[in-house]
Amino acid sequence: MFDMTNINVNSSSSESRHVKTLILGSGPAGLAAALYAARADLEPLVLTGTELGGQAALTFAIENYPGFPEGVGGAELGDLFQKQAERFGARVEFDSAYSADLSSRPFKVTADSGDFQADSLIIATGASPIHLNIPGETQQTGKGVSYCATCDGWFFKDKKVVVVGGGDSALEEGLFLTRYASSVTIFHRRDSLRAGAVLQKRALAHPKMKFVWNTVLTEVVGDEKVEAVKTKNLQTGEESVFPTDGLFIFIGHTPNTKMFEGQLEMENGYIKVDERMNTSVEGVYAAGEAADSHFRQVVTSAGMGAAAAIEVTHFLERETA
Ligand code: NAP
Repeated sequence: MFDMTNINVNSSSSESRHVKTLILGSGPAGLAAALYAARADLEPLVLTGTELGGQAALTFAIENYPGFPEGVGGAELGDLFQKQAERFGARVEFDSAYSADLSSRPFKVTADSGDFQADSLIIATGASPIHLNIPGETQQTGKGVSYCATCDGWFFKDKKVVVVGGGDSALEEGLFLTRYASSVTIFHRRDSLRAGAVLQKRALAHPKMKFVWNTVLTEVVGDEKVEAVKTKNLQTGEESVFPTDGLFIFIGHTPNTKMFEGQLEMENGYIKVDERMNTSVEGVYAAGEAADSHFRQVVTSAGMGAAAAIEVTHFLERETA
């Protein structure tokens, strides 16, 4: 898990705090932005959000971030990002923003700890997992339904689990679950996978992994814990009950941008940015999965965060010139 010992917890204050650069989110985009902003003497403040290190910190092993030929743990990488940013003066506080007023400068942001006035703002609030929205799913979340294999896989030692999805996440997390579970059955709504070739090859060849094609889940069954899932074959219409101890859902993500609705231009909930990470409001930048529905990699998010901070530097220089 992400190392909490280095995180400052801001005590509640009624006073509005003024900052040159406020960064929302502590995933790769937010912490890379903090590193660059700190090195430019912008004294950035990062409000971590509830997921320290972002989604990357929930990933067991990241094998495609350059510079780590043997791979690196997601939480460990987040911790390294943070230490590097702090070395140059960035402040990281465990706090979550829940509303913003971007109509004038300084921008006003309200967080759990109080209000902030920011000369510039970098939004790196990331994305959250999409739910299936089937009966039983919400009730059984935490009792066998999960959206994070790294967090919950351990609970399924020698048990049967079901995974939903056909993308990189479903296969990567499914492969991770084979460390614990006795079997991992992937239910996919089509008969071909969306995931990349390397993951497909590994997953299809894994002795613990099974695939059920053209099939969706219609209900999670169980009282105190998950006991089975109801399924429907989309080609034959046949309905079945599949016994399982756990259900892991990896069907994509939705960006955490609700508080900016009506204030920033968006497309399908993703904040629109140009090639320099400018949003539709001057002085507000966005980076990572809050603004990227396409690449969604640790390295691309970190790159966007760095670019946003470089642009903030130019913006604040122009403002004070
Ligand atoms: P994704 O690529 O959007 O895949 C979502 C999967 O869920 C698809 O197979 C989709 O089916 C299925 N799905 C969507 N809604 C569904 C529903 N209501 N019921 C059943 N199935 C449903 O999402 P992702 O796997 O989270 O990946 C997101 C991005 O992150 C991708 O760009 C991916 O390459 C990247 N990523 C990369 C890595 C890596 O490089 N190691 C790891 C994880 C993620 P269809 O295929 O039929 O649409």
